[in-house]
Amino acid sequence: MRVVLTGGCLCGAVRYRVDAELVDAGYCHCRQCQRSSGAPVLAWATIVQPGFVYTSGAPVVFHSSVAAQREHCAACGTQLVFRPRQAASAGGRATLDFTLASLDEPAALAPQYHIWTMSQIPWLAMGDSLSRHEDEGPDIPA
Ligand SMILES: [Zn+2]
Ligand SMILES: [Zn+2]
Repeated sequence: MRVVLTGGCLCGAVRYRVDAELVDAGYCHCRQCQRSSGAPVLAWATIVQPGFVYTSGAPVVFHSSVAAQREHCAACGTQLVFRPRQAASAGGRATLDFTLASLDEPAALAPQYHIWTMSQIPWLAMGDSLSRHEDEGPDIPA
């Protein structure tokens, strides 16, 4: 499915536009998402690159692991992007994740699954019936 969306950070300094093929969307309960946001869970959409562009401002890059970097606004701290360094996911295609809650219309895309539930915080009660995976979940078909 092709999606055309816009979003940005809390202060408005960094803005982005997405015009890309959507891979999927889901909740991530990993400790890196928790630590990097200060929130119990992050909701991400994955798209095929190219297709995500910054239209205003420039983010700060944090290399959160050997495999990926996270991009956030230097002024207000909003986390916007998770960018894998290699196109290992989604059948070899280059992909990029952006935070659903940073969209101008955050209801536009809904999460389809939970991953890394092994580190879900016990007091976080989510009553949905989406599939749950203790780790990164099943491979995404190409
Ligand atoms: Zn900002
Ligand atoms: Zn995560």
